[in-house]
Amino acid sequence: MAAAIQPKKGRPKAVINPDSCTGCEVCVAVCPVDCIDKLPGPEHPTMNSVCVIDQPRCIGCFLCEKICPWDAITMVPPQEAPATEAGTTAEGGGRRGSPESEARGTI
Ligand code: SF4
Ligand code: SF4
Repeated sequence: MAAAIQPKKGRPKAVINPDSCTGCEVCVAVCPVDCIDKLPGPEHPTMNSVCVIDQPRCIGCFLCEKICPWDAITMVPPQEAPATEAGTTAEGGGRRGSPESEARGTI
């Protein structure tokens, strides 16, 4: 059995800008460690869903950043990655002012 891929210290982390993410899930399909998930958005049916990254599991491979058709993913130094597991931008962290973003501990 192949060993699970472990994040290496110092590797960049991917963060998703929720204002640009359309929830297309292209990034979900390419992530080799399956650390991106689509957030359910039943509370906001008129809004696009967004994807989030489980930061501790991101290995910094850049695949999602390269393939995102909406340039919604940025690679940042690990110390600049969001503290939450949501994996969205530090200043955004979710659609600004939305209940979803507030629930994720970001603005
Ligand atoms: S590929 Fe980009 S736009 Fe599509 S779900 Fe991922 S982050 Fe969002
Ligand atoms: S850089 Fe993107 S594709 Fe690679 S492990 Fe991190 S979240 Fe997954």
